Amino acid sequence: MANSEETPRKTKKPAAPRVDMPTQPPQERITNFMEVALGYTQEQAMAEAARCLQCKKPACVKGCPVEVPIKDFIGFLQKGDVPGAYEAIKSTNSLPAVCGRVCPQEVQCEGACILGKKGEPVAIGRLERYTADTYMAQTACDHMVGVTKVCAPIHEDIKVACIGSGPSSLTCAGYLSSHGIKVTVFEALHELGGVLVYGIPEFRLPKDIVHQEVDALREQEVDFFTNWIGGKTFGISELFEAGYKAVFLGVGAGLPKFLNLPGENLIGVFSANEYLTRVNLGRAYKFPETDTPTYAGKNVAVFGGGNVAMDSARTAKRLGAENVFIVYRRTKGEMPARVEELDHAIEEGVELQILSSPIEFKGDDQGVLTSVALQRMELGEPDASGRRRPIPIEGDYFELACDMAIIAVGTGPNPILLEATPELEKTPRGYVQVDEETGETSMSNVFAGGDIVTGAATVISAMGAGRRAAQEIARRLLGEENA
Ligand code: FAD
Repeated sequence: MANSEETPRKTKKPAAPRVDMPTQPPQERITNFMEVALGYTQEQAMAEAARCLQCKKPACVKGCPVEVPIKDFIGFLQKGDVPGAYEAIKSTNSLPAVCGRVCPQEVQCEGACILGKKGEPVAIGRLERYTADTYMAQTACDHMVGVTKVCAPIHEDIKVACIGSGPSSLTCAGYLSSHGIKVTVFEALHELGGVLVYGIPEFRLPKDIVHQEVDALREQEVDFFTNWIGGKTFGISELFEAGYKAVFLGVGAGLPKFLNLPGENLIGVFSANEYLTRVNLGRAYKFPETDTPTYAGKNVAVFGGGNVAMDSARTAKRLGAENVFIVYRRTKGEMPARVEELDHAIEEGVELQILSSPIEFKGDDQGVLTSVALQRMELGEPDASGRRRPIPIEGDYFELACDMAIIAVGTGPNPILLEATPELEKTPRGYVQVDEETGETSMSNVFAGGDIVTGAATVISAMGAGRRAAQEIARRLLGEENA
């Protein structure tokens, strides 16, 4: 019998197939940095929205770390009401155009969708993207002339500082400013958006989308300062002395990890962090329009199996590499990258060199990388992560010729602010220790969230943390009834 709580209407008709999202053809897109996924047309969005069963107790909402009212927003879309849908999403998610593009929906909202049990889940992420893009396009004029929805009036004397401008801080700033609190964001780099701008490439998340979200915060009177490094240009205690009532730390986990192997300092070996930052933030992808080129390999080996590895490999393809290999210790099924990103990488000609682990980088007499020695692996029993443990096969080595290697095996906490603030308690892994409910650190009225607390995670989990901390800050500064 059907579950009457989840399925409001009995139907024998099988659900219509999920509507595909148009993409640039692979051969065309590897020659440019324009967005790969092109978004739904109105007709496609309506057809996909119509697949939603409007469950009485929607499981999808529980699958979303910020509990977007998914049933409500799709309900609005079913009636053709895009502004209503946008408002519903925005009630808990301050960056819908970003999340619609980069959230791992398959393990979150869509992973919980009832339709996914027997067929394909509703394409919630694509509908979120459609809603955000359509709403922004329809209201572009209003934004340009400043006709935006008025939030609570800003109290200039109730000030909060956010350090870092990634999704955790932007969400915190958005929540607080919409409750009338004056927010200032201090960012170390010269551009705002954190990983959304310096890490995730243009072909997945156009920078305009992030800039639009930042501009919306400016309209809410959030002030932004770039090139301000917490722990160098200013300290946390100075912010309190300057009248800030609370501080949110959203400084991320951008310190690259290396493999610590012989030859890792050869010319041509990069951390993914440096490579992507040069291409994205440094705009090397626009060379020669910009005069900031980057190293471009012909045979590129990328180490890792997550989104960062996929972004690096696909970027290398677009910059002209002939052969790009993802070298991974386990198999394709264990790769932590979003399924869509992995599929897109393979469509673009990226090759998987699975069950292989690097042991040494080799170079010529000029110190330039020429190859990497790899050891073959097999899978053993599952480890603490639940994935099967890779085990080296004794004596089974081979060499992969490459003139560029990109290491994408994870990151650690950004250290500058933490080193300058010894009062901040840290976890055994070196991240900031917080109260799970409120996000407060060991320093009173200093909150933290996002990757600096969890280690490298996701945009939506960083946003969830920014929102939780903002709710607590608002409660303290404005009282329970106004938070
Ligand atoms: P960040 O986005 O890291 O922002 C931190 C900001 O703080 C940075 O701008 C930094 O310059 C600034 N900062 C650091 N120290 C200081 C200081 N002392 N003073 C002032 N400012 C400082 N997640 C997904 O959900 N989907 C994806 O597809 C996805 N793809 C990714 C691809 C790449 C290449 C990378 C690197 C990450 C990806 N992620 C993805 C992860 C996601 O981007 C992060 O989890 C998220 O951005 C973390 O947000 P945050 O606010 O904690 O920090």
